[in-house]
Amino acid sequence: MTKYNFCAGPAMLPPAVMQKAQKEFIDWQGLGVSVMEISHRSSDFLALTAKCEASLRRLMNISDEFEVLFMHGGGRGQFSAVPLNLHLDGKPAVYCENGVWSKGATEEAAKFTTVQSINVRDDEQQNGQFSIKPASSWELPADASYIHYCPNETVDGIEIFEVPSHPSAPIVADMSSTILSREFDVNQFDLIYAGAQKNIGPSGLSIVIVRKTLLEREGLAKPGILDYALEAKQGSMYNTPPTFAWYLAAEVFEWLEANGGVKAMEEQNIAKAELLYNFIDSSAFYSNKVAKHCRSRMNVPFWLNDESLNDKFISESKEAGLLALEGHRIVGGMRASIYNAMPLEGVQALVDFMDKFAKENS
Ligand code: PLP
Repeated sequence: MTKYNFCAGPAMLPPAVMQKAQKEFIDWQGLGVSVMEISHRSSDFLALTAKCEASLRRLMNISDEFEVLFMHGGGRGQFSAVPLNLHLDGKPAVYCENGVWSKGATEEAAKFTTVQSINVRDDEQQNGQFSIKPASSWELPADASYIHYCPNETVDGIEIFEVPSHPSAPIVADMSSTILSREFDVNQFDLIYAGAQKNIGPSGLSIVIVRKTLLEREGLAKPGILDYALEAKQGSMYNTPPTFAWYLAAEVFEWLEANGGVKAMEEQNIAKAELLYNFIDSSAFYSNKVAKHCRSRMNVPFWLNDESLNDKFISESKEAGLLALEGHRIVGGMRASIYNAMPLEGVQALVDFMDKFAKENS
């Protein structure tokens, strides 16, 4: 039976990448050892990192005005790194809050710098559905050290398709669960970061795309491994990097390029999300609580209208080869995460199962 993994992260990776990695696991490039067993400063590994960065630059059209860093610590590592690097005396760090992860980022930043949080949710205006205010109406202050927002809230299933702008403050985005899922104009941002475990590779790795001019900021005293300027100077090798995660990220980027790049992923992601949301909307058995204009294409939370059937749904979906559909513990219900590696057939299998389950239990 084909199994489909709907986990929010660590998430499904492209099967072709996993099969290649399995083959190379104990003998990488004929060296007779694994990529995990060689020096990160060896010419073989440095060739891999150069290839990996070049590939990401092509995929996201990242110009020379940006540095690309491969760091430790996942998404939350960056929750700390951002304020430590970008703090400016006397100016607040502005955090736009639209869900669980942007709140988490706000709380972490408040340990280090003065934070001004702005609620960008507008749930009341949408008949109780979760919703986002238009970015042009976000009440951003005239002066800020930076503006932080989360384009895709993995837990809440809310995606912001607009990019906020500010006349002077840098725009910082936590793209952990949306990077490479759709086209972004990187030039509209000053810092993009992402934990790798959704659309890129193993957890623990974080990708940071930072405008070079921001590296001149002194910020606050910080651990070396969270210091952007230091990492940029050291080629992301101030200390031993997560080499296997870096290798797998390179493989995923290669797979993405061979499969039409971000544009093709975006088209497929739209088709997958439409299939699932249209089914949920047409059903009297299931519901989704997010207003249509800000529904996540990557994480689709849904509820059984009769929640007493939740356990049955989870156990039968597992038997049908549909894995990890439990909702996040904070919000409950169900959640299907449908990142780049999830094929349309996987979403179709989920919809077929949901339809059958509804008929059998109505
Ligand atoms: N930001 C977002 C949007 C996330 O979805 C997650 C985790 O799922 C994180 C941050 C935290 O990432 P990590 O667990 O790698 O620290």
